[in-house]
Amino acid sequence: MSRREVVVDGPVIVGAGLAGLTCAIELAPARCVVLSAGALSTGTSTGWAQGGVAAAVGPDDSPADHAADTLAAGAGLCDEAVVASITAAAPEAIEWLTSQGTRWDRNPDGTLRLGLEGAHGRRRIVHAGGDGTGAELLRTVVDAALRLDSVTLWEHTPARRIVVEGGRVTGVEADTPDGPVVLRTPAVVLATGGIGGLFSHTTNPLSSRGQGLALAFRAGAALRDVEMVQFHPTALDVAIDPMPLVSEAVRGEGAIIVNERGEWVLADPLSARDVVSRAEWAQLQAGHRVFLDARTTPGPRFAELFPSIHATAVTAGLDPTRDLLPIRPAAHYHMGGVLVDADGQSTVPGLFAAGEVASTGLHGANRLASNSLLEAVVCGRRVARRLRDASGQSPTGLPPAELVENPVAAITNAEYGARLDAPDRRQLHQQVRRIVTAGAGVLRDEAGLRRALRDLQPHLDDDTGLVGYLVAHAALRRTESRGAHTRTDFPQVAEPRHTLITLDDVEGIAA
Ligand SMILES: Cc1cc2nc3c(=O)[nH]c(=O)nc-3n(C[C@H](O)[C@H](O)[C@H](O)COP(=O)(O)OP(=O)(O)OC[C@H]3O[C@@H](n4cnc5c(N)ncnc54)[C@H](O)[C@@H]3O)c2cc1C
Repeated sequence: MSRREVVVDGPVIVGAGLAGLTCAIELAPARCVVLSAGALSTGTSTGWAQGGVAAAVGPDDSPADHAADTLAAGAGLCDEAVVASITAAAPEAIEWLTSQGTRWDRNPDGTLRLGLEGAHGRRRIVHAGGDGTGAELLRTVVDAALRLDSVTLWEHTPARRIVVEGGRVTGVEADTPDGPVVLRTPAVVLATGGIGGLFSHTTNPLSSRGQGLALAFRAGAALRDVEMVQFHPTALDVAIDPMPLVSEAVRGEGAIIVNERGEWVLADPLSARDVVSRAEWAQLQAGHRVFLDARTTPGPRFAELFPSIHATAVTAGLDPTRDLLPIRPAAHYHMGGVLVDADGQSTVPGLFAAGEVASTGLHGANRLASNSLLEAVVCGRRVARRLRDASGQSPTGLPPAELVENPVAAITNAEYGARLDAPDRRQLHQQVRRIVTAGAGVLRDEAGLRRALRDLQPHLDDDTGLVGYLVAHAALRRTESRGAHTRTDFPQVAEPRHTLITLDDVEGIAA
C-alpha cells in the first residue's frame, strides 16, 4: 500500500485516555489531531480506574501533607519540586474536571466525599460512581473532546513511528485500515498509557504494552527508571485475563489480607503496595493461598460502596459478604517512562509525553495510590499550555492549514482485536509475557534478568519484545532493592540514582 502524507495544523496526540484527551481539550481553540489505537473509549486504563483521584481538598488536609505521603511512597526517587507542584495543583484539577462535567460522589451537604487508600495519611481520594471513577472521567473527557471543533479524533489508528529529521520531530507515521499515513507536524504528544500487558498477570488492558515507550526510544528519547513497575497486591485470582482489580479502597474500608488458614499476611493491611505484594509473594512461594477478607468490614456495605467489584465477584461465583476473595499481585502501573521536564518535553525536540507513559518525577520508585489520574490531568494540561504558549494561537507555529478529514475506513472493535492479536502476534505476545514475568516480576535477580534479556534479544524488532527487554535491562542495572523494584541478590538500598536508557545503551535496535 502507498504511504500518504498529510499536513496537520496542530500537534498530534497519540492516545485517547485521560492524559491525551485532557491535553486536547486544554489546547482548544488551537487545533489538534488525537490518535486512538482502537475505538474511542476502548483500550484505556483510564476507563478501568476504580479508586479515584488524590487531592488535598479535605478540611484536615494540605498539599504539603499529600506531597509528604507521595515522597514517602516514592522511596527516594521522586523529584521534590515536581511532587510539590503537582500536589499543589490537585484541588484545581478537581475543579477543572468538575467544570468539564464530572459528577463526583458527594456528601449530603454537597461537599466531596473523600475515601482513604493505602499509604495516604488522610481521607483524600475523590471518586465518582463509587468504584467507577475512571469510567466517569473517561466519559467526561470523551464528551468534552467530541464537543470541540478543534479536536479531530482518528480511531483505529495506532502510531507506528515518530519521524525525526534534523534532530527534531517532523511527523508521526500511523497505521490505518487504508494503509500507512504520515501526519506532518512538529509536535507529537505521547499519551499511550502503561505496560501491564507485558506481564502474564496484569490489571491493565492487554493492549497496554508500552507502545509509547517503544516509539520514543526508537526516536532517540531517553527513558528513565523503566524497571519501576508497580504490582497491585489485590488482583482477583479467578482465571480472568486481564485480572479484575479489587481496589485498595476495600482495604481502606476495613478488609484484611489472610492466607487459607486465616492468618494475617501482614500486620498493617494499609501498607504500601510493594510491601503488601512482597508479603503475598512470599506466601504464594511457600505454597499458601492469599485472600482478601471483606466479610466483616466492609461486609454488608460492600455492594453499595464497590458496585463494580461486587458485580465481578458475583460473576466469578463469589459473595464478598460470605466468601474469601482469592487474590495475587499483578502488574498494575508503570512508574518509569519517557523522561520529561515540567512541561512534558522529552529529550527529543518536539516530542512530548503525559500520563502513565511519562516519567515526570512524581512517582519515584513507587506510585502512591490515586496519584496517576491526578498526574494525567495536571500534566496533560501543562503540555497543552506549553504548546500554546510556544507559538500563540497555532500551537506548532505552522501556518493555519485545512484540517484533514479522517481518511480511515470504519473498522469494528472485533476487527481491531483480531488484528492486534493475529495468531503470530498473539503467540509472540504470550511468549514475551512469560519471559518478562519470569525474569522481571515481583522478585528479581541477576540470573533471571540475564535469562530474560537473552530470550528477548531475538524479538527487539517487535515493540513488546523491545519494551520487555528495556525493563529487564534497567532492572539488571539497578543493583539494589528500592520501592517496587526488589532484587533478591541485592536486598539493600543503595545511594538514590535514576537509570536512564537510550538507543546508545542497547545494540541491535532498528530506529
Ligand atoms: C484496573 C485499574 C485501576 C486503576 N485505578 C486507579 C485509580 O483509582 N486512581 C489512579 O490514579 N489511577 C488508577 N489506575 C491507573 C490509571 O488508570 C492510569 O495510570 C491512567 O488512566 C493512565 O492514563 P493515560 O491517559 O496515560 O493512559 P490510558 O488511559 O491507558 O490511555 C492510553 C491511550 O493510548 C492509546 N494508545 C496506545 N498506544 C497507541 C498507539 N501506538 N497509537 C495510538 N494510540 C495508542 C490507547 O488506545 C488509549 O487510548 C488504574 C489502572 C488500572 C488498570
